[in-house]
Amino acid sequence: SRILVTGANGFLGAHIVKEALDSGYIVRGTVRSQAKADELKKAFPSEKFETAVVPDLITGDYTEALKDVTAVLHSASPFTMGVADPKKDLLDPAIDGTTNILRAAYAAGVKRFIMTSTIGAVPNKQEGLFADTTYGPDDWLPVTYEQAASGTLPGFVVYITSKKYAESAAWDFAKEHPDFKVTAVNPTIIYGPVIHPISSLKSLNASNMAIYSLINGSKTIPPDTVPVFCDVVSTARIHVKALDSEPTYGKRVLFAKGPATMYQILQVIAKARPELADRFPPIPEVDPVAVISRIDSTIAMDTLGVKGLELEETVLQTVDNLLELEKKL
Ligand code: NDP
Repeated sequence: SRILVTGANGFLGAHIVKEALDSGYIVRGTVRSQAKADELKKAFPSEKFETAVVPDLITGDYTEALKDVTAVLHSASPFTMGVADPKKDLLDPAIDGTTNILRAAYAAGVKRFIMTSTIGAVPNKQEGLFADTTYGPDDWLPVTYEQAASGTLPGFVVYITSKKYAESAAWDFAKEHPDFKVTAVNPTIIYGPVIHPISSLKSLNASNMAIYSLINGSKTIPPDTVPVFCDVVSTARIHVKALDSEPTYGKRVLFAKGPATMYQILQVIAKARPELADRFPPIPEVDPVAVISRIDSTIAMDTLGVKGLELEETVLQTVDNLLELEKKL
């Protein structure tokens, strides 16, 4: 059968495309322009891969894109930390963009919808993931839309709030349309090899940028925003496996392999890739992050059987891939 993947040219989106193709689906990926479609076609030359151009998430017309599609994986959403206008840059495309595709999918007869949310939409305490707590699917970020739109919150908080309301839009829609089966995937921060087209490491996706900044000679350790991790291939696999997994209907699939502070990541790189030492920032003596929450990943790991790669493998795959890209770009 044919599925639609939005944001197919993104870091995670491209891995979802690959996993879905490998699982035998015909995959149609949406991108914002024909030029991006052409680039992506080069990355996925398979005849089972098609593209559709939808220039705008909020107003885009999906009629053509949804033809003969049985399920939608909605992954497109802005993930940036630098926000000039919280509404325009993050909240509107995330939330109204989700509502737009929900309506279009349902109108086109699609009954299965998987959306990429984030672990950021989950913690219900002010200390967030830096708390001695186990978070599960019933927990929700307390930040409100009004707070996020006010322009006073850090970009990262606006981003996770945009995802919270985008995910809520999908749950509200599912409540109104019980024949429409929604699953949300809430990954922790995702690292791993880049397989989507990028022209420069300056346009690297936000999560991998954190690892790259440890080895690009900038000599600064980025702030710990999400001290828990998962790998991109496993995360993509969760999306694809959920497609025909009835136990995931109506569920939030949280996914964390384990803790990953910037300090821990730097330790992994320093130990395994000592030849990069002159690029490292000064390594602190102790990890400034004291406590990290636990994430209930039961559905991902037990129901879907996706266990995830360990931190060392994830980080080293990412580092090696970034060094290769450095040479190529
Ligand atoms: P990328 O920035 O690599 O990909 C984002 C994708 O969304 C791209 O295809 C991008 O298209 C598209 N997109 C972004 N903004 C818009 C917009 N305004 N209109 C249309 N398309 C847009 O990010 P990731 O791959 O990391 O993120 C993919 C999804 O995963 C997002 O939903 C994100 O919230 C979620 N996520 C990511 C995590 C991570 O650590 N990476 C963790 C948890 C969740 P274009 O190339 O044209 O900009």
